[in-house]
Amino acid sequence: MGKRFDSSKVFYRFDPDIPPIGSVKLKEKVEIETRDCFSNQITEENQLVSSIDFSQVNPATGPIFIEDAKRGDALAVHIHKIRTAETGLIVTLPGEGFLGEDVKETRTRKCKVNGNWVDFRGVKVPYRPMIGVIGVASEDRHPTGVPGRTGGNLDTRYITEGATLYLPVEFDGALFGLGDLHAAMADGEMCVAGCEVRGEVEVEFDVLRGLSPPWPVLEYGGYTYLVVSAGSLEESLKEASRIAVRALSKAFSIDWHDAYMLSSLVADVQISQLVDPKKTVRIGFPTSVLNAKKLLEALSR
Ligand code: CA
Ligand code: ZN
Repeated sequence: MGKRFDSSKVFYRFDPDIPPIGSVKLKEKVEIETRDCFSNQITEENQLVSSIDFSQVNPATGPIFIEDAKRGDALAVHIHKIRTAETGLIVTLPGEGFLGEDVKETRTRKCKVNGNWVDFRGVKVPYRPMIGVIGVASEDRHPTGVPGRTGGNLDTRYITEGATLYLPVEFDGALFGLGDLHAAMADGEMCVAGCEVRGEVEVEFDVLRGLSPPWPVLEYGGYTYLVVSAGSLEESLKEASRIAVRALSKAFSIDWHDAYMLSSLVADVQISQLVDPKKTVRIGFPTSVLNAKKLLEALSR
């Protein structure tokens, strides 16, 4: 078994000046324990999100120094296994979520993980564990609660077992961290939370030299995704679409108008989340058309 990092050391900003808690080698198996997005401050339904210390929201375990990850590389994060605790929490808070103006009540609900199901008020919800916060140090030093170019609060449900996430390395060693596991979360994350749960994740790192992407790239389930976050859904969709068309043009040596038509055939436009300080969308290409390596090469040219 490789290295293990427990959740006693966390950070709240993708800041290169935060000293690493340890280092790992490329292709070394690493186990990372995580707090839930409330830093485990809520354990019962009578505890409300309005009463917790907000400076401790969205902790990421780390930062972890990745040996041989150099500025300008793409850091590949292979997600081998996600194990979650048996009880998660979901909350509402007036003003929060996509329908924030309609929310009248602050409420906490427990959700119980039972094998392949998460029990919410007697409804059997498919158990789909995923990672909400995952990223590396960035020049803009954005908070872990915000999604960005080097990752962050991406809340993208395909960041899960079997996926590989590619992040741009802006500082030697990357300074990686993750947290905010969800036992279940639908696209959009409408109410502002998923089934928020503590747990642990097994990952392994690799690098693709000189292929630092402008935004996170994800390969999962036969698709390659470009994951883009901006101030509004419209802005995110425009930015992602522009990059997608340009990447297709470069990958297949076709001009912009041909690439624009091709995008209409192969680029699925999807929403990751609607509720964080920036909104995250993704564009998925079948890997038979564009695998992660080919997309990273097209983006770097
Ligand atoms: Ca989140
Ligand atoms: Zn979360």
